[in-house]
Amino acid sequence: MTKRIAIIGAGPSGLAQLRAFQSAARNGADIPEIVCFEKQSNWGGLWNYTWRTGLDENGEPVHCSMYRYLWTNGPKEGLEFADYSFEEHFGKQIASYPPRAVMFDYIEGRVLKAGVRDWIRFCTVIRHVEYDEATTRFTVTAHDLDDDRMYKEEFDHVIVASGHFSTPNVPEYEGFSTFNGRILHAHDFRDAREFEGKDVLILGSSYSAEDIGSQCWKYGAKTITSCYRSAPMGFEWPDNWDERPALVRIEDRTAVLADGTRKEIDAIILCTGYKHYFPFLPDDLRLKTANRLATADLYKGVVWVHNPRLFYLGMQDQWFTFNMFDAQAWYVRDVILGRIELPCDKQAMMADVREREDREEASDDVKYAIRYQADYVKELIAETDYPSFDVDGACGAFLEWKKHKAEDIMAFRNHSYKSVITGTMAPKHHTPWKDALDDSMEAYLVN
Ligand SMILES: Cc1cc2nc3c(=O)[nH]c(=O)nc-3n(C[C@H](O)[C@H](O)[C@H](O)COP(=O)(O)OP(=O)(O)OC[C@H]3O[C@@H](n4cnc5c(N)ncnc54)[C@H](O)[C@@H]3O)c2cc1C
Repeated sequence: MTKRIAIIGAGPSGLAQLRAFQSAARNGADIPEIVCFEKQSNWGGLWNYTWRTGLDENGEPVHCSMYRYLWTNGPKEGLEFADYSFEEHFGKQIASYPPRAVMFDYIEGRVLKAGVRDWIRFCTVIRHVEYDEATTRFTVTAHDLDDDRMYKEEFDHVIVASGHFSTPNVPEYEGFSTFNGRILHAHDFRDAREFEGKDVLILGSSYSAEDIGSQCWKYGAKTITSCYRSAPMGFEWPDNWDERPALVRIEDRTAVLADGTRKEIDAIILCTGYKHYFPFLPDDLRLKTANRLATADLYKGVVWVHNPRLFYLGMQDQWFTFNMFDAQAWYVRDVILGRIELPCDKQAMMADVREREDREEASDDVKYAIRYQADYVKELIAETDYPSFDVDGACGAFLEWKKHKAEDIMAFRNHSYKSVITGTMAPKHHTPWKDALDDSMEAYLVN
């Protein structure tokens, strides 16, 4: 009987898995039957933008956490697919920090070329997954939203690629319920123009805080106050951006901060992170991890140690993204195809997880973390036929990026880097990021 594989999610991770199997088939391998379930009506995961917030057209939680005017927050040279360069897709080299629409086009280009769309059942949510020890198979309960029909199917392996930047972590502070302004989580932020002329309070000190604050600044917010709990982001902010210690409470429209500062504010944006959330998985299959580089309970970062027929993709905190998802997907494919043998006892797999955790915890330096994840990507691609590429070169682009951010946080996107896939230098973008208000693909690709 042909093996059957279920992939949950057609974002960059799930699509990497489809491409991995398609490339094996193209090279003559017998591959299992692949079924990818995607709750949205299109692929691309977070990169599939919608104006909606809250619930989608089917009454499901909106997956998208991206917003208008989003440009990549790291250089594209750090994420380029080794088997599908930006030059191949666009017919020319393009600048280093593409807006979301450009990235979506690039992600889509590779899977259109691979011809894997037919493997995806769109508008289909996975409601439940259960494992049967006796048959060693999974029963997957799917909900076809178009026909409003629930059905069950059996699979030999399940690959969870449902992402982990979609279910918001929403704190409560004294005074929130009586605040006469707008409070929203980053997940529901869509258009910075809404905050033009406003005094905005941002809670958090990670990427969302940095980028959403920068968007508000670019599109004309009057002031930005960002609050950190552990450490400040520490950039040289523009004059109307004040970075301060944590929020204590809200009194009417006044934010009271831990250092005694009081600020009148119009809106509060909670850049307070996301939760790994898998409502479709029972306890024995469900990943419970912090957002970190060495995820809990995943051998090689992908194999569920408690049941190695189950895999997770892209569950790490991410410096590397698309090329790391590829490295993982090729590895998972080869485990399923029997090309890679897993350790036969759980203790050995747990030891691998512990070693990764210890190594991650050895330093909290950012450069160390980038190199740590680069080593992980190298480790996985060495075990498969994923086209090898200069991972250290990609790492170099990230280190340059960190330097450029430290030099000028509102200008780092004006820099360009060399592709480690084609060896060509990206052109400088025609307009400095702070003046480029149109984020359409047409505007970006103009020479
Ligand atoms: C605001 C923001 C900005 C970002 N910017 C960048 C950036 O500039 N560069 C970068 O490289 N990365 C960026 N990222 C990181 C991002 O995580 C990755 O680029 C990438 O989208 C992760 O891919 P994924 O497939 O693992 O998850 P996702 O993109 O989240 O895709 C998961 C898919 O699973 C589907 N799904 C979920 N649950 C179910 C279910 N039960 N049944 C069926 N389908 C389901 C979803 O609909 C979705 O399509 C950003 C993330 C955010 C939130």
